[in-house]
Amino acid sequence: YDYDLLVVGSANADLVIGVERRPGAGETVLGSDLAVHPGGKGANQAVAAARLGARTALLARVGDDGNGRLLLDSQRAAGVDTAGVLVGGAPTGVALITVDPSGDNSIVVSPGANGKLTPEDVRAADALLRASRVVSAQLEIPLETVVEVVRRLPEGTRFVLNPSPPRELPDEVLAACDPLIVNEHEARIIVGGEPAGSPSPEDWARALLALGPRSVVVTLGAEGALVADAEGSARVPAVKVDAVDTTGAGDAFTAALAWRLGAGSAPAEAAAYAARVGAAAVTRAGAQVSFPTAEEVAAL
Ligand code: ATP
Repeated sequence: YDYDLLVVGSANADLVIGVERRPGAGETVLGSDLAVHPGGKGANQAVAAARLGARTALLARVGDDGNGRLLLDSQRAAGVDTAGVLVGGAPTGVALITVDPSGDNSIVVSPGANGKLTPEDVRAADALLRASRVVSAQLEIPLETVVEVVRRLPEGTRFVLNPSPPRELPDEVLAACDPLIVNEHEARIIVGGEPAGSPSPEDWARALLALGPRSVVVTLGAEGALVADAEGSARVPAVKVDAVDTTGAGDAFTAALAWRLGAGSAPAEAAAYAARVGAAAVTRAGAQVSFPTAEEVAAL
């Protein structure tokens, strides 16, 4: 394989303004200077994997505009192969983010070019799929595009899905996931209901496994994660750190897990490594800029 990981997903420019108070309907407030950061779950995962040393490629679509160039630059700076990043068709996706002093935010996402990453684009990227040991996707691109990835997956290639933002998934997508990586909020929507009582992560994992994925990982923030498959389940403790900003922790965790599983690590071992990567990411502000190198993970 030429690539340890191919990420198929979104690339967004995060447009962030600090405000004293988030505006209500009809209200205008003054904010800080605008900060523009490269983001989007696909772009974040690719940068996270490449920074750890994984040979990584990205299949995504950005606009022919300044935000698109910002995203391409950050991918290349991290060492991601961007030959699969398509340019044009719509403006680069953006997330408009207002953050108040307590850290609470309001976000509006305009998918832009992410919404124009089509099944046809996946078919045209056949060589990239064949060259990749693991393929990772999220749901900030059209579901039909993710379905096409699953249909085109070469024999022996592992598929990893973080279904975010969550929605119900077709059986053929669920059946391909190894693992399906969710937090409890996402689990609730994928399952389409709640296990009886106050469900534990183990209950969520069982309910998810019943839908057909080969394995499941439930992320639990500062509580770590749970890995589960037909053989059983195991808790993976979080690494204790001073959390500064959890943005992108899930993306860093997912990228690290996908890479280590592809390298042959056992699920609990891969998740323990991913938990270290997620923990390192929360110790620094921002998303892509907060992702650690392998040396930084080792030093944690
Ligand atoms: P996101 O909010 O980015 O969508 P998520 O909800 O999918 O993230 P989290 O559970 O928040 O994912 O984080 C992923 C992993 O990162 C966790 O399983 C954990 O290992 C690690 N992590 C997250 N927050 C912390 C924290 N405060 N301290 C230590 N580790 C953390």
